[in-house]
Amino acid sequence: MVFGRPTPGNELWAGAACCKMKHMKGSLNPKRTIAELKELRSLTADENGAHRVAFTSTWANARKWLRSKLEQLPGIEIHNDAAGNLWATLRGESEKALLIGGHIDSVPNGGWLDGCLDTMAGVEILRRIQAQFTGRPPVTVRVVDWADEEGARFGKSLFGSSACSGKIDMDETRGLKDKEGIGLVDAIKEYGIDFEKVKDSGKELANAAAYLELHIEQGPVLLDLDLPLGTVLGTFGVERHAITFRGQAAHSGSTPMNRRRDAFLAAAKMSPEIYRIAERSDGGVCTIGSCATKPGIVTSVIEECRIALDQRHLDAKVLARMLQEAKEASECFAKEGNVSVRWKRLWEIEPILFNKDLIKFCDEAISETGAKSHRLPSGPLHDAAEVARAGVPTVMMFVQSLHGISHNKIEDTKEEHLEMAVTALDKLADKAMSWICGNETYPRRQRMGAGTNS
Ligand SMILES: [Zn+2]
Repeated sequence: MVFGRPTPGNELWAGAACCKMKHMKGSLNPKRTIAELKELRSLTADENGAHRVAFTSTWANARKWLRSKLEQLPGIEIHNDAAGNLWATLRGESEKALLIGGHIDSVPNGGWLDGCLDTMAGVEILRRIQAQFTGRPPVTVRVVDWADEEGARFGKSLFGSSACSGKIDMDETRGLKDKEGIGLVDAIKEYGIDFEKVKDSGKELANAAAYLELHIEQGPVLLDLDLPLGTVLGTFGVERHAITFRGQAAHSGSTPMNRRRDAFLAAAKMSPEIYRIAERSDGGVCTIGSCATKPGIVTSVIEECRIALDQRHLDAKVLARMLQEAKEASECFAKEGNVSVRWKRLWEIEPILFNKDLIKFCDEAISETGAKSHRLPSGPLHDAAEVARAGVPTVMMFVQSLHGISHNKIEDTKEEHLEMAVTALDKLADKAMSWICGNETYPRRQRMGAGTNS
């Protein structure tokens, strides 16, 4: 690792009157972040992994622990917003705010880094900035711990951040229940949250000028490239469809092969085809994740076959083309087999692209930490996607995941890489602060505005 390389000159910084931070020394201690993550693990995990499921007592304890860390910092204001998101604010010369976010909640039997690495790196950077500017940085700096990113209890992820972005589906969410039949509305009431008011959380973004989030990659891309860190370009758009082929049931023994109308045969031909579609798409992914047949007995040709197809890409146009190609292929295979085909959309979300300037700063921060930057999309959604949808300039940084695995107790990252991640995020925070200063007239994109990131 090469630390302390001089920061390259940047024309964006030149006009920034308030940017005196460039030459000051910080007191960042990435080792402390790792020690704190271990402390959190010892408080909230057992031999099966982490158990910080949102809106449970273990999560509440984790939150209490987080608060106790923040309370040790002089001059930090801490409050929970209308959706249960925890905000720690260090007021600066400017009201414009740099936000650093994460989520301390986990899935059951979860790993020790997913979400809480982001939050605790934010806490460490807040400490550094607080110390460096003796409590008064040029811009306001805020760490947010989102409520219920995972959706492990009620099956709805990004609860707190989607309430904050205003994109939460109130009708759908109002009816959610956990395995015991307890409603989300009642469960969150115990934590002081009035469901009907969760969107009031949106006012927290009023002065948000940039949002940063560090996360473990949860996949094998950086591992395969042998790179510790990556810059995330955005989150994939998703098209998810049920495709039903219909033929005719007929006796397995008496029906000659050339007389069959086999719904499964047509569906099966889709399997290699989606690999070709993904390959042509340059970076997209396709999955047939389920297959159900009727009548589903070995003595009958299959009358009906329903498959579920999930397609993802970072480019909306390419995603639309992937969908069109899959539709055309299904019609072609249906015709070949003398069966019919019907499509039904199950779910969709547009690709969410991160901010170009912040992407560039993220690359720079990674190289100044002594690593080679690699740009990659995020397959999973993250709270950052909701913040970006709300119109706040956003970027994410990924750190390599060992085994390329997450949502599992074996989730891990080399400590050396974790330290580099905290250091690189800190450098990115500095660049973002300078950028905010230099952009005093930067037109804040319309909050809740449609299309700014789509
Ligand atoms: Zn996460």
